[in-house]
Amino acid sequence: MKTNLSDLAIFGRAPTFAEKIYVGRPNIGDATRLLERIKTLLDSRWLTNSGPLVKEFEQRVADFLGVKHCIAMCNATIGLEIAIKATGLTGEVIVPSFTFIATAHALQWQGIRPVFCDVDPLTHNLDPARLEQLITPKTTGILAVHLWGRPCNIESLTEIARRHRLVLLFDAAHAFACSHAGRLLGSCGDAEVFSFHATKFFNTFEGGAITTNDDALAEKARLMRNFGFTGYDEVVYVGTNGKMSEIAAAMGLTSLEGMDDFISANRRNYQLYCAELAGLRGLQVIDYNQAERNNYQYIVLEIDQAETGISRDELMNVLWAENIIARRYFHPGCHRMEPYRTLDPKAGLTLPVTEELAARVLLLPNGTAVGENEILEICRVIRLVLGRPAEVRARLAHVQPAQSAQEVVAAAGVAEEH
Ligand SMILES: *Cc1c(COP(=O)(O)O)cnc(C)c1O
Repeated sequence: MKTNLSDLAIFGRAPTFAEKIYVGRPNIGDATRLLERIKTLLDSRWLTNSGPLVKEFEQRVADFLGVKHCIAMCNATIGLEIAIKATGLTGEVIVPSFTFIATAHALQWQGIRPVFCDVDPLTHNLDPARLEQLITPKTTGILAVHLWGRPCNIESLTEIARRHRLVLLFDAAHAFACSHAGRLLGSCGDAEVFSFHATKFFNTFEGGAITTNDDALAEKARLMRNFGFTGYDEVVYVGTNGKMSEIAAAMGLTSLEGMDDFISANRRNYQLYCAELAGLRGLQVIDYNQAERNNYQYIVLEIDQAETGISRDELMNVLWAENIIARRYFHPGCHRMEPYRTLDPKAGLTLPVTEELAARVLLLPNGTAVGENEILEICRVIRLVLGRPAEVRARLAHVQPAQSAQEVVAAAGVAEEH
């Protein structure tokens, strides 16, 4: 346990952790059960194409979420692309920029312009009032994101979509097992899309799903997922290959059985982080509505440099030197990445909250791979830094220019020898 500022790795000491600690290390359920399922599927020689495990997984997810249809996908990006195509989106679609790049890419990939809308500073989700100002005759839909698993302002978005006759889709990649008004997400808008990527709270190695109560849309998405085939020799739509494999579904079924344990671990960790970081000026851990169900996957810090005296990036560099690989989700915002920054170099002017959040948000490690002792150490480092920001800054300036934490460590080591 580090107790003095000079114990920090940026001052040349050994890092807090011998091995790196990551954001989003996979949660893995009962491995024995998983291996049994894999044995069964190998014996059956049914590896993909809507096999029994995918069917069972879809049914169990639909039952769990309380939604009519779950269409399992090979990943959420293809799920988004199919949902976008199946709902007939064209022209312009309004999306947040403060999200993972796949949200925007799924539109751009099919020649639809993502129109970036700013978010609310408290919820980090689309700001409905700003959104309405961005609607043009070319707008065909809204693709909202339940960021960090915290539900969007669903009522306002639904009302705006209805009034302007827009399709409403939700990127629910973060939001599996999260509720709004007492109902699990998955039934809102025209469709919602979940990600079961390895780094998400609940994984199928790679995977995703479209959920919807719309029978016709579900049918269309199922066809598009499988090249548009309706029978062995009959194709009725342009389609793609979005199928989930049986081994992914085996992992999904096992993850479903382990989900309560994942949530307990995440919630325990979240509460410990909150307790250990409470009362630090200029540093906030985002909150989750305790009256709702949450998966507590994301430990999201907001660092207000004016208050802390240290920037988010400076804190991150200190943490990386300690082998704590904290992450800047979602920096720098989609509008500052290609091709969007070339298409609209001035987009940032209309996205002040996104710009601000992209500069102040930092994610800390969570999940079943992270334990109590690790969290105590991580928080100890953060408290040391925030207690003496000026000295940390001076030290970082001394060891700079450092592009990465490895270089911070290396530079600190070299500096120490002089
Ligand atoms: C992870 C993620 C995706 C993409 O999910 P994949 O399953 O990796 O394709 C899309 N949107 C958001 C917000 C995400 O975090």
